[in-house]
Amino acid sequence: MKNVVLLGSTGSIGTSTIKVAEDLPDYVHLIGLAAGNNAPLLLEQWRRHRPEALCLNDPARAAELQAVLGGAARVYSGPEGLMKLATLPGADIVLIAIVGTAGLQPALAAIRAGKDIAVASKEILVMAGQIVMEEARKQGVRVLAVDSEHSAIFQCLEGRPASAVRRLWLTASGGPFRTTPKAEFGAITVERALRHPSWVMGPKITIDSATLFNKGLEMIEARWLFDIEMGRVGVVVHPQSVVHSLVEFVDGSLLAQLSTPDMCLPIQYALTYPHRVSSARVQTNLAKLGALTFEEPDLDRFPAVELARRAGERGGTVPAVMNAANEVAVTAFCQGRISFPQITEAVANTMARHEAVAQPTLEEVLAADAWARGAVGL
Ligand code: NDP
Repeated sequence: MKNVVLLGSTGSIGTSTIKVAEDLPDYVHLIGLAAGNNAPLLLEQWRRHRPEALCLNDPARAAELQAVLGGAARVYSGPEGLMKLATLPGADIVLIAIVGTAGLQPALAAIRAGKDIAVASKEILVMAGQIVMEEARKQGVRVLAVDSEHSAIFQCLEGRPASAVRRLWLTASGGPFRTTPKAEFGAITVERALRHPSWVMGPKITIDSATLFNKGLEMIEARWLFDIEMGRVGVVVHPQSVVHSLVEFVDGSLLAQLSTPDMCLPIQYALTYPHRVSSARVQTNLAKLGALTFEEPDLDRFPAVELARRAGERGGTVPAVMNAANEVAVTAFCQGRISFPQITEAVANTMARHEAVAQPTLEEVLAADAWARGAVGL
């Protein structure tokens, strides 16, 4: 049985994690839940799971919820509240599924308090992978992947070092515009970009999957999680999203992890690791699936992949700048202020103007993030 704190419980990953907890009541005990603003769903989740502590971003809403709950649970608020939850004395593991960068400080606080962390919020490792992984090594805690691709790689590697690996292969569905001609990119609407062919996810990551920035962020995430240089992290497009990623070993052998796409599986693996626990939720019928296909990513139509590779190779504060500029550009696109191709252009322009710091402190990473949000000019 693991005592789990879940940050971002009302989102797509959060609600899948709640399903896993309900599937496995003997293994997963939720002791803390945090959301942004969705107080009604958080209250419903509390009624079902009775965690000892909750957190909402807005102090006024948190106070209202505290009044409803009385002494039955503590309700914290804002960034300090997330830190309280991340360091709850009884927590064994903290799963971070907050969209954007708000999960970084709680992740570091959890590690420093000796907790394992399960990372869905890839932004954390993109911004500050070196800092997070060094801190985890120092504290002797695990950083477990929730992203399906990284969970797949983790399962294939089984602890083997980077020296045993020729290349890590991240699979990409290719998103909704995999076959759309470049000439039509300017006319892509928000509604079309939000229609992902294989996964139902929150809006930010869905747009990132359409530009392929999601794969770029994942390349940097893989670089830190598996301590491997960017040059050995490859991307292959696999529209069926059944092969979640692969490891190519130095002897030429390729190991892959497969299943029908369902985030409950990597979430369960992160929460029950190192054990495999029986669950009937995910069933994969290979004969019914028929063909599994693979193709090269089109770097001309999807320049985000190369931008991210360059950001990962340059390192320092560059990935944080790429991530922040992308976040602002995705919001601008969703609000109809820029076109789909302008997302990548805005990120590239911001990266080009950044004066990178090579071995940044956390403060320098946060300063680069803040600089990029202003410099992107949207
Ligand atoms: P959603 O937008 O569906 O959910 C985001 C969650 O974060 C919600 O619970 C939201 O609360 C909460 N939240 C937002 N801001 C704050 C804050 N300041 N304090 C506390 N909670 C906050 O996102 P997803 O679940 O899709 O994605 C979450 C993360 O997981 C992202 O980093 C994404 O890249 C990553 N990821 C997602 C996958 C997926 O399948 N969805 C797959 C792999 C990775 P509220 O509902 O109240 O706004």
